[in-house]
Amino acid sequence: MHKSILIIYTGGTIGMVRSPMGYIPVGGLQKLIDLKIPPRIAVDMPSYDLYEYPDPIDSSNIRPQDWLRIARDISDRYDDYDGFVVLHGTDTMAYTASALSFLLQGLTKPVIVTGSQIPLSELRNDAQSNLVTAIELASSYAIPEVCLYFNGHLLRGNRSSKLKATGFEAFESPNYPELANVGIYIELNHSVLLPIPEATNFQLPDYDHHQVRVISLYPGMEAEVIRLLAQPPCRALILRTYGVGNGPSMDKEFLKALEDAHHRDVALVNLTQCTTGSVKSDSYAAGSELARTGLVASADMTVEAAFTKLHHLCAMQLSAEEIRLQVAAPLAGELTIKTE
Ligand code: ASP
Repeated sequence: MHKSILIIYTGGTIGMVRSPMGYIPVGGLQKLIDLKIPPRIAVDMPSYDLYEYPDPIDSSNIRPQDWLRIARDISDRYDDYDGFVVLHGTDTMAYTASALSFLLQGLTKPVIVTGSQIPLSELRNDAQSNLVTAIELASSYAIPEVCLYFNGHLLRGNRSSKLKATGFEAFESPNYPELANVGIYIELNHSVLLPIPEATNFQLPDYDHHQVRVISLYPGMEAEVIRLLAQPPCRALILRTYGVGNGPSMDKEFLKALEDAHHRDVALVNLTQCTTGSVKSDSYAAGSELARTGLVASADMTVEAAFTKLHHLCAMQLSAEEIRLQVAAPLAGELTIKTE
């Protein structure tokens, strides 16, 4: 059967050109693709439609409402295509890939988010191979989830993080195996892919960017910082703690600020500052004291996954108690359940 995919171009380095201020996003990606991937080569490519956003952006300008726009664009055209490629800037690509995984739950078709570190417009670039491989993955492989593809690595979207500011190896999946070996051949690691769902369960509620906040602990952080951050309209606050979930347990005022926020129905989430590993707050008294204020452990989620998941749960109009329960339960393969 003839396969067809939709490419959504949101902006990012992949479609940028030089300007006196540095790279800027521009439209006209189709022209650039035609120039760089001439018809004699493109003849081997699966057929695709390109949907260019009229207002392509540097992804450092992204807002939660933009995730919803992309998800709705995919949902509206879901039956018309076999797979989707989202072209996006690398700076917040892992946030968007994570958010899409919660918005497009129960996917049966691949959604591959990609971009590049050097624009397609440059002579030497990583854009062409990322684009062509993403198209191939979206059109020819049974991948029922949102993935991030970059420089030979296919990662679960909500497990990925940008760990390098420069260099082609920008993304990793610190707490989860890669979904495929992408070399001369492409081999999916079937045992780590999400199972094919019985039905799609897209949830596309309106996102409100005021509701979720994140703060990284630092030695000497005042209780006042927590009080200010946890003010309405904040409904969920992620505290990036030390190691396995520890914090300043000897600072009674700090603990009181957390407890007060908890009692005002702010969902408090404990996420480690470490890149790998999981929160286990009862390992140390310094973590247990924090947990007693109401802080919920977030297992081994990336900050991108935890942040976008909380946005999603808030947008679904769940109560603070329901949000606390769901934080630790996987919705789209974003965390590991420990069985010990
Ligand atoms: N600032 C760019 C962006 O995120 C970086 C990139 O795409 O590599 O849009």
